Amino acid sequence: DIRVRFAPSPTGALHIGGVRTALFNYLFAKKNGGKMILRIEDTDQSRYVEGAETYIKEALGWLGLKMDEGPDEGGESGPYRQSERKALYHQYAMQLVNEDKAYYAFDTPEELDAMREKLKAAKVDNQQYNSITRTTMKNSITLSADEVKARLDSGEPYVIRLKVPTKEDIRLNDMVRGWVKVHSTAIDDKILMKSDGMPTYHLANIVDDHLMGITHVIRGEEWLPSAPLHVLLYQFLGWEESMPQFAHLPLILKPSGQGKLSKRDADKHGFPIFPINWQDPESGELSTGFREEGYLPETVINFLALLGWNPGTDQEIFSMDELIEAFSIDRIGKAGTQFDIEKAKWYNQQYIKEKPSNELAGFLQQELKKESIACSDEKAAQIANLLRERITFPHELWSSGKYLFCAPKEFDQKVVKKRWTEEAVTILTGYQDALQNVTNLDAEQARASLNEVLERNDTVIGRVMQAVRVAITGLGSGPDLMEIIEIIGKEETIKRINYALD
Ligand code: GLU
Repeated sequence: DIRVRFAPSPTGALHIGGVRTALFNYLFAKKNGGKMILRIEDTDQSRYVEGAETYIKEALGWLGLKMDEGPDEGGESGPYRQSERKALYHQYAMQLVNEDKAYYAFDTPEELDAMREKLKAAKVDNQQYNSITRTTMKNSITLSADEVKARLDSGEPYVIRLKVPTKEDIRLNDMVRGWVKVHSTAIDDKILMKSDGMPTYHLANIVDDHLMGITHVIRGEEWLPSAPLHVLLYQFLGWEESMPQFAHLPLILKPSGQGKLSKRDADKHGFPIFPINWQDPESGELSTGFREEGYLPETVINFLALLGWNPGTDQEIFSMDELIEAFSIDRIGKAGTQFDIEKAKWYNQQYIKEKPSNELAGFLQQELKKESIACSDEKAAQIANLLRERITFPHELWSSGKYLFCAPKEFDQKVVKKRWTEEAVTILTGYQDALQNVTNLDAEQARASLNEVLERNDTVIGRVMQAVRVAITGLGSGPDLMEIIEIIGKEETIKRINYALD
């Protein structure tokens, strides 16, 4: 059975690249009738940030990415927080030590620095603790067994390092990248257990993927350099047979296409790269998220799905179910993929056009509440339908439709200058009178009355339309004016025309 995981470290907000990773895992799991697991990788205490785990769950929830197992969902492979699994990592680290696949190292920070300096001076590119340098360092390979025991007994700080083979090619067949081959000399003797007794990412990640029965590891390309090391760990732990398959997702690039997308790009260009708002608990700095900017979850899902994956057809709009149906790893590209916020806006427009009226009306009601304006749901729905074709974000139902609630205080002067003709004044005066006699003013009646006045004065709508509009809305353009009149109603329309004529 297919089992995948999303394994964020709770070090802050979820970058949009992380959300894409979660999405691709989710799509792959659903497509294949598999399970998706949320695992919180919180072993690096120095980088732990309060509130980040809650944030991650809320963001996934908003996007509709429902986990099958996780800290809140539970499941047979729990606990799902690495900080609650410490004993396991210790056990496997000891297994590796006992089998001579890992070793204790006692080097002090000063000694490590000195080693790097020496290598630098000798013009060695990689100043690594590896199969060559370890032979001169203070570890259980170079020290006698008695000495090692004495140091351990005396409580001297130590780490456990992986004993990377001297000369060996390590291969893996990545589902996106194909065969990747790395020579073991390029891998350093990674620390598996730190001196604080916590495992490093590498050990904890492999132990958990194995124990949780993960079949496919789908994650960002930044982890590709670690993959050979992970393969080695699977071999050393005797888990090679059940090693998961890897799929490393292409980088998300800046809008310019040059380099990896960063938070700085987001700040500079004024677009979000976090799913939902994030307030940094340390600095208090607030970064806005897609949700708060007015992007719909379906937009974010659709937009992210096409960052690095393509359906092989021209189809651009996908519901979650359609994505699940269409998704396959072999349609994920190797090349970096450009982040284009305009595309996200376009998706938002498409989804707003299709949204049920009552949902859009709900957005409008939220905005109106902030303004303390009461409005019936029926009317809110009517307004939503009137404006949906013209907006990118739901909050624009208010910002671009204010005149539906409040009489204009200012009038577009360009329109006034050009269109406020004597003829227009005559028509508006006549229209105002005509409306007085109407009992049931809907859009149709509003049009009929206006036509009557136009005919009586022997003119056509094109000659006065903009003046009528500016009188009622203050603006030179907008949606169907007759609908607007129906929404604001007879009394208000007459009042506004009256005011404009004054
Ligand atoms: N904890 C790692 C992260 O924050 C997980 C990487 C992986 O998926 O192996 O991205």
